[in-house]
Amino acid sequence: MLVKGAGGTREHVPFLCPRGHRLEAGRVIVGWSPCVCPPCSGRGRGLRGHRTYLCLACRDEHVTTKCYLPHHVPSLGADFRWP
Ligand SMILES: [Zn+2]
Ligand SMILES: [Zn+2]
Repeated sequence: MLVKGAGGTREHVPFLCPRGHRLEAGRVIVGWSPCVCPPCSGRGRGLRGHRTYLCLACRDEHVTTKCYLPHHVPSLGADFRWP
């Protein structure tokens, strides 16, 4: 399985999952999670969200580990829920 980016190119996933697995192409499911936390709201329209990385090594162990890029920073008092 190849991880396809928006442009159809393979993406480099530059970090480890919290459980120490390498998140490399074929070992991760890349997704998108709309968000309005501070790191996201500073980005352009249509880019407000996190790229999500679901670790397949963790999934093999029946653990769901999802990483967010940029890191999710909940803002105080912001209880906005995306529909
Ligand atoms: Zn993992
Ligand atoms: Zn966020």
